[in-house]
Amino acid sequence: MKTTLILAAMLVLNAASSFAKITVGASLPDFASIASYVGGDNVEAFSIARSTSDPHSVEVLPTYMVRVARADIYLKVGLGLDQWADQIIEGARNSKLKIVDCSARVSVLEKPTRKVDASMGDVHPDGNPHYWLDPANGVLIAETIADALVLVDPEHAEAYRANLERFRSETEQKMSSWKLEADKIANHSILTYHSSWSYFARAFEFNIAAKIEPVPGIPPSASHLALLVNTIRKDKVRVVIQEPYFSDDGANYLARETGVSVTKLSPSCADVSPLHISRILIRYSRHLARCSR
Ligand SMILES: [Zn+2]
Repeated sequence: MKTTLILAAMLVLNAASSFAKITVGASLPDFASIASYVGGDNVEAFSIARSTSDPHSVEVLPTYMVRVARADIYLKVGLGLDQWADQIIEGARNSKLKIVDCSARVSVLEKPTRKVDASMGDVHPDGNPHYWLDPANGVLIAETIADALVLVDPEHAEAYRANLERFRSETEQKMSSWKLEADKIANHSILTYHSSWSYFARAFEFNIAAKIEPVPGIPPSASHLALLVNTIRKDKVRVVIQEPYFSDDGANYLARETGVSVTKLSPSCADVSPLHISRILIRYSRHLARCSR
């Protein structure tokens, strides 16, 4: 009887382990969202930062280390954006954790052409790290994540590759309707607070006339704001995109001086559901279209 019970318990444990999901932690919800899509039923993904967090500086909490201690894969944004994640990974002491730099396949914009010093700002030492807002880069991120999943969980390699191809074709299909939406406003020049929108602007042919920050990570001086007033008038800028986690004093000043409309938009998606990153792009362009009328 006792032997039968032990055998039954072993069978249950074995069944549980063969159905155990691969746990993927990510610095940002956009990357967790893509991991959910590519991973499908075999993966459980979570994000450390929220869509409302400043991705350059996330406060490291012990609970994050506990979550990463139980993860199989960790997705970093890379390019110096989420250096805070290193502290979480170190604190997690998880020797089986596979750390993946999702910028691996991306061609990087705004790479410094000379040695980085304080005059160039303090947050983008390796070029612009906000690459996830170009859907084509979303596909490159998905490829990198699929490679990592296949390595960690070869048993489900076929499913991961099939999901990746579905992600690729769905993104390519949707790109034309996103472009149609964006075309309605693409001829408008915009101002942004930070350089979070460079890849988005390139993908959808927006003209970023200037940034409120003179260099990444440095708030604007009075003389820089005076220059921006001129730029807004000269380039007929009608919209300023302001990340919700940076001070909006500069944007509000420009709105008072010139009548420009300020739109608060987070460059990250709000949850980790699959394809949220795609849906958010169309929402941005609709929002911008409304403000540009
Ligand atoms: Zn940045």
